[in-house]
Amino acid sequence: MTLLTTDPFDDDRFHEECGVFGVIGHPEAAALTALGLHALQHRGQEAAGIVSFDGDQFHERRALGQVGATFSSKSVIEKLPGSSAIGHNRYATTGEVALRNVQPFFGGVQGRGFAVCHNGNLTNSYELRQQLEHRGSLFQSTSDTEVILHLMATSLRHTVLDRLTDALRQIEGAYSLGALCTEGLIGVRDPLGVRPLTLGRLGDAWVLASETVALDIIGAEAVRDLDPGEIVLIGPDGIKSVKPFGRHASRFCIFEHIYFARPDSVVDGADVYEVRKRIGAELAREAPASADVVIPVPDSGVPAALGFAAESGLPFDLGIIRNHYVGRTFIEPTDQIRHLGVKLKHNANRRLIEGKRVVLVDDSIVRGTTSLKIVEMVRHAGAREVHMRISSPPTSHSCFYGIATPEREKLLASHMDVDEMARHIGADSLAFVSLDGLYRALGQPGRDSRAPKYCDACFTGDYPIPLKDFEAGNLTAPLSPMGS
Ligand code: AMP
Repeated sequence: MTLLTTDPFDDDRFHEECGVFGVIGHPEAAALTALGLHALQHRGQEAAGIVSFDGDQFHERRALGQVGATFSSKSVIEKLPGSSAIGHNRYATTGEVALRNVQPFFGGVQGRGFAVCHNGNLTNSYELRQQLEHRGSLFQSTSDTEVILHLMATSLRHTVLDRLTDALRQIEGAYSLGALCTEGLIGVRDPLGVRPLTLGRLGDAWVLASETVALDIIGAEAVRDLDPGEIVLIGPDGIKSVKPFGRHASRFCIFEHIYFARPDSVVDGADVYEVRKRIGAELAREAPASADVVIPVPDSGVPAALGFAAESGLPFDLGIIRNHYVGRTFIEPTDQIRHLGVKLKHNANRRLIEGKRVVLVDDSIVRGTTSLKIVEMVRHAGAREVHMRISSPPTSHSCFYGIATPEREKLLASHMDVDEMARHIGADSLAFVSLDGLYRALGQPGRDSRAPKYCDACFTGDYPIPLKDFEAGNLTAPLSPMGS
């Protein structure tokens, strides 16, 4: 039996992509958290967990699989009592999937409970972990997030906020954290604000979530994004906000706008759907195509394709349909049908394509697997010409800050120019939106290379946070003898 994974980055080691949610001051905190996590399911499908606090004790449930598989059951939610809770969705690639790596992590700090969950990726956790292990820490997981708990436990400071700040001063990387302790609910964004975290209000309750869609699902109002480097503690006395790291210019992840965030979210103050349409319009201006129809690669290519079609005056059609019931993993009986891959997920509608010059719009080319197969599929459905348009610049560098990407050598754009890529995927023409065009779609005059407003390292190699572990040759935490 061969394992076929339909995820584009199936055989790569890093990293986690995650969703974070938290609520305080509501009698049904765990149920709201389950709903919030459900709305954030796109940020991580492999595991989910919730920790609640009833004023006296903490309760936890963590499970592999999607949120609904565990947290739609009344009996599970009833075992998570209390008016505050945090929850987490996790995506990690095969090998790292183990219950002991499922967040939130929980530990005793100063004899009191502290639960934490993390969206992002720490870039010096291997180094810190080695130091901590040397001093006697016994790690329970292979996740970078656990380092935060150990650093807090070994801090000599007194209050929970001081201990947390002490820990955060030692970590490097991208992180949006949700934490729950006896003092209340805590939210944190790293000093550059790479990953999103937003604050909402539901009656008297406060909510924290990776994206506004998680506020929408429970009927909460969006209040504001946490600032880069901000820590909020929401307790019985309201919100306390501190910014212990000084002022830094924000470097929000530009890929959240391109692909990762849900299009019905507002992240970093921008309407994701509108931004994607504007990127499509930029692309149509920069790289027009003589064609008969614009067809998106669903689902992520749809808003940009709408923008491209509107700007170019070409008709738009849903000429490729995505099967939404494809899970991440399939058991395939033979190697011969391994190549089916993308076809399991997408099907071209010959009636909309035959005899036409087609513009295909997708959000990104990573390894090129999807584009290659989709172009072939559209030709097979009778397209006369296929013009591929991509609503991001070429992805030439891996992400170390929390978006799953393959190693650099596997990124098509790391070793091919645009013409070579066009030949590789079999398109009559291929074009990517320019970096300046992307910034324009985000309301900027272009990319200011001295002070870029976003983290765009995946397109430029300009990494705003040092990559200590990677540079030392230590990409991931060492697996314990237990294996995962
Ligand atoms: P590839 O087939 O390797 O070129 O990957 C490109 C496709 O994967 C595009 O259709 C994207 O929508 C999608 N994609 C881009 N980034 C990610 C990611 N981090 N995780 C999963 N899919 C992604």
